[in-house]
Amino acid sequence: MISARNQPYRTTAADSDFTENNYLQLLRLAKESYLFSTYRAIPWGTRFILWRHDLDYSISRALALAEIEAGEGVCATYFINPRSEFYNPFEPGPARLIKRIVGNGHHLGLHFDAKFYDIQSEEQLDEKVAVEAQWLTDAFDVELDAFSFHNPVEAHLECHAERYGGLVNCYSRELQTQVPYCSDSNGYWRFRRLYDVLHDAIDPCLQVLTHPGWWQKESLEPRRRIFRCVYGRAQATMKQYDLVLAEAGRVNHGRSIESLNFLESAHGDIFTFFDYLWNKRQFSTLFFELWRIHRLQITQLCRMILLSIWKIAAVQVDRLFNDDQLNVKSGIVAEAVLGPGWRELSGMTEAREETYLTLLNDLTNGRALISESALENECASICKVISTLSEWGQSQPIAYDGIKALAVDGECLDAKAVARCGELWGMDRENDAEQWRKRWEELVAVLASKGFHGVER
Ligand SMILES: [Zn+2]
Repeated sequence: MISARNQPYRTTAADSDFTENNYLQLLRLAKESYLFSTYRAIPWGTRFILWRHDLDYSISRALALAEIEAGEGVCATYFINPRSEFYNPFEPGPARLIKRIVGNGHHLGLHFDAKFYDIQSEEQLDEKVAVEAQWLTDAFDVELDAFSFHNPVEAHLECHAERYGGLVNCYSRELQTQVPYCSDSNGYWRFRRLYDVLHDAIDPCLQVLTHPGWWQKESLEPRRRIFRCVYGRAQATMKQYDLVLAEAGRVNHGRSIESLNFLESAHGDIFTFFDYLWNKRQFSTLFFELWRIHRLQITQLCRMILLSIWKIAAVQVDRLFNDDQLNVKSGIVAEAVLGPGWRELSGMTEAREETYLTLLNDLTNGRALISESALENECASICKVISTLSEWGQSQPIAYDGIKALAVDGECLDAKAVARCGELWGMDRENDAEQWRKRWEELVAVLASKGFHGVER
């Protein structure tokens, strides 16, 4: 929550604090000095700790923390906001996650957006908290313990009673004055760093607030953590739409999915990104990306065949492809390795390639006169080239689509596929080596005649 009252002295992000592993260490540290308690029965007079999560951004991150806590045998309280802009707790998927949080032994609270109602009185607060609490009780079949304000204004924090709507008020006078507090608001420690608080353990009792969206598997900047929550949700919704149509055997009308469906199962992240560009009508960017994938696919298919079928040493293959004279116009390697038929098969004729190179040049220099719909057509046609080569590669003994491992810098080959193709071709390195060596020498000779000298025999 964002406190209306206090000004933070600390605004520096400590991204590396907010990992699951550090979270586990914090729980262990807390267990050493404090007794984990719930708002339902606060054990006043003991060294208790009220461990609370306000779910501002992500229910799936909340479940991840709930499972870590359950592994440590501690109980926390998860405050759910039925009016969140970032999730809907009543949708089937998120609701299942919340049930799993409860199933891990945790309690639920209400994260209450008082601004939604423009709450002006304690009576009104009493009424609305009770209404929203009942929604959650009905949905999850549990009684709620407490409520916390979401982004409160000064007037809300002046509602000091112990309870409203039957729920404990996390900002009651008693809790505010008697229980020291530590929060991770905005993805950094605004006041005290939780590690220091738990390590020093000088507070007689504590209320700890975390927001699960801030806690990820790896260290990330706060905005990236939110990006993951928001776009992860959007991606899941689009997937659900596609899945429902597929399961019902319906046609999924949409130029992007029709053209990009070859990426969807094996290359989900690339699919999502291209689908986004397509639907945002960013065809210039998309065209560059598709062209890049097309060229990388050719290179990777060639590398795979040279390494695993021709049995050329990796160092020689690397030298060949690292030769900066080998530019995009030199289809010579592709023709020698994939065979001259690759152009006809994929539809990337020399004339089309020439057209594309001109188009790329024009787009780069901002002088392209091509219309949006014509550029969309070109994107669709280059998708066809890539998907055809992808199918071809997968049908070959290399069983490789030429796209896999694209995202990994300098690592273009799938080691398992390389190992597999030797078996499938029944290659006997000793007996067949001579044949491949000859082909390699021919290729080197042709390249040399074209002015490439970066390869060795
Ligand atoms: Zn909040």
